[in-house]
Amino acid sequence: MEQVADRVWLVRGGIPRTMNVYLIEDEGGMTMFDAGISDMPKRLMSAADKHGGIKRIVLGHSHPDHRGAAGKVAESTGAKIHCHRSEVDDAESDGGMHYFRFSRLPLRPGRFAMPLLLKIWDGGPLKIDEVLDEGDEVAGFQVVHVPGHAPGMIALYRESDGIVLSSDAVYTVDPLTGIPGRPRVPLDGFNLDTEVAKASLLKLSALSPKTLFPGHAKPLSEDTTAVLEELGHKGGILPHK
Ligand SMILES: [Zn+2]
Ligand SMILES: [Zn+2]
Repeated sequence: MEQVADRVWLVRGGIPRTMNVYLIEDEGGMTMFDAGISDMPKRLMSAADKHGGIKRIVLGHSHPDHRGAAGKVAESTGAKIHCHRSEVDDAESDGGMHYFRFSRLPLRPGRFAMPLLLKIWDGGPLKIDEVLDEGDEVAGFQVVHVPGHAPGMIALYRESDGIVLSSDAVYTVDPLTGIPGRPRVPLDGFNLDTEVAKASLLKLSALSPKTLFPGHAKPLSEDTTAVLEELGHKGGILPHK
């Protein structure tokens, strides 16, 4: 576990270690943002132990690689699971798999491997205890609805230091190969609606954040506002300067 900001820790999972789960120090324990993959519950719970354990799980969105550990952690700790109002149906069923279009993925092997990997990563349907909406407060952060990649995806924004926990709003890694790279909009084949996902990046850029901590791989901390704006307008992968 590594501390990435005031009261915020990062636990990485997966091979390579690109699955990010954030633990936020909160009153009476930790709030976990996103829930990684199915083999992460033990690591997450022992990481949180030093800070009072996990008391609440907030899903950035419900895709299998973001809800994977939620069920087991909730079962073991009694933590309540929260997500955005528009994400409840998918969190309680297939994790959004019904709108994935694997045939649109740019790499042929990915079209076959991804459905299998998603199955392995998934922890199965959840029971959502509480619903979040735009503007709600979570552990000193503000809920920002950033739909498109998923109907009820949220980011958490903290005005005092300008950081955003951004789930899958933007990638700094190729999701099919795990190779780090330029910032990019999530792949169309995994999005409910890519145009809406781009508009959500403009919404994030309007907050002028300093650093974005995504659901996978490295943070985005250079020219963050301008990068979000360019991706929001043009889509795709940010070109080299
Ligand atoms: Zn996702
Ligand atoms: Zn993801």
